[in-house]
Amino acid sequence: MARLQTQVGIIGAGPAGLMLSHLLHLHGIHSVVLEARSRQYCEERIRAGVLEQGSVDMLRNAGVAARLDKEGMRHEGIELGLNRQRHRIPLAELTNGKAVTVYGQHEVVKDLIARLLADGVDIRFECGTVSLHNIDSPQPFLRRSRDGSEDEIHCDYIAGCDGFHGISRPSLPQSALRTFERSYPFAWLGILAEAPPSRDELLYMHHERGFALYSMRSPSITRLYLQCKPDDDIAHWSDDRIWSELHTRLGCTDGWKPLEGHILQKGITGMRSHVTEPMQHGRVFLAGDAAHIVPPTGAKGMNLALADVYVLTEALSAFYKRNTSTQLDQYSAVCLRRVWKAQRFSWWMTSLLHRFDDATAFDQRRQLAELDYITSSRTAAASLAENYVGLPMELH
Ligand SMILES: Cc1cc2nc3c(=O)[nH]c(=O)nc-3n(C[C@H](O)[C@H](O)[C@H](O)COP(=O)(O)OP(=O)(O)OC[C@H]3O[C@@H](n4cnc5c(N)ncnc54)[C@H](O)[C@@H]3O)c2cc1C
Repeated sequence: MARLQTQVGIIGAGPAGLMLSHLLHLHGIHSVVLEARSRQYCEERIRAGVLEQGSVDMLRNAGVAARLDKEGMRHEGIELGLNRQRHRIPLAELTNGKAVTVYGQHEVVKDLIARLLADGVDIRFECGTVSLHNIDSPQPFLRRSRDGSEDEIHCDYIAGCDGFHGISRPSLPQSALRTFERSYPFAWLGILAEAPPSRDELLYMHHERGFALYSMRSPSITRLYLQCKPDDDIAHWSDDRIWSELHTRLGCTDGWKPLEGHILQKGITGMRSHVTEPMQHGRVFLAGDAAHIVPPTGAKGMNLALADVYVLTEALSAFYKRNTSTQLDQYSAVCLRRVWKAQRFSWWMTSLLHRFDDATAFDQRRQLAELDYITSSRTAAASLAENYVGLPMELH
């Protein structure tokens, strides 16, 4: 059995784990990253694609934005669709120049992996089965077993960045945790299509048949979503049926509808809000989806993951450089303030735009009135814009 020593043992090479390892490296703090999947799998996993202004600034300040600055698409507005008409929310105008950048999560992951490997950081892909030990002691360790052999990674702290289905959260004493959850009576059918974007900005469309989202990933690839039933089977959605439904829901009175193209990928993702409190126990800190899930309507998932590890890095840096654990003790409380505001916004965007089968006629009229208010009042639109581009990062 090999025995390794590091300062921070990180489980998971998604945006949270990779960014944490990189930021720690910049602070001169050593880490080892254990990832269950292969490098190729991580780099090809299509997920989120909207970066808040603060996330872009963080990636720039951390020196990993060269490709993002070249290929990312800065969007200074989004469109909301109502009654087959589009209404622009001018994000930059309403937020003193802030914007979002469209850049695929898998591209962020690729950039971070390349940088970490170039810097000689220890990432172990296809690491085998990981378990957490001595988490209440000052000498916790991770054990990984693969093909009959075992290694131990001894560390000062463990960062659980292993997503919603990872091992970190279930390894904490459940009596010490409280879970807050909401599930939604619908899911999203998402496609990636080989078709150049025919709109400059994302279009969030309310429609009586259900919500639809028009978005893009690059100058040649569009990403489109349809609200569907939570138990829908992707086998029931032929390419023709998907395009026909997209045309119906996204088509506008001025004749605009999405350009069709070869469908490269399609899948159905459930919608859920989840928060685990606190986000730390003993020597373990949870970050990103390991601690919280948001429905994708607010485009917050990857951004929250990056915000968590920013707070964690500053706290670990204070511990190693100034020998104070005050910020580490406050990690969960600081992160949860942002998490709950993102939860509120994501829930609100979801409620605003989706069709709820059990909605009464009153509920439907109220929903339309709210959309009408947001698209006609600068004050209401400013609140949406402030949340969409991302609230300021706070460390206290
Ligand atoms: C299918 C899907 C589609 C999504 N689409 C969108 C979207 O369109 N818009 C949006 O805003 N957000 C979306 N999200 C949310 C967003 O992608 C996540 O919030 C983001 O990935 C969080 O990053 P993370 O690093 O916390 O977790 P993850 O990206 O999940 O990374 C966790 C990593 O840990 C690894 N891991 C798990 N268990 C173990 C283990 N036991 N040992 C070692 N490694 C382990 C995983 O392989 C993974 O690489 C989507 C999420 C999913 C699941």
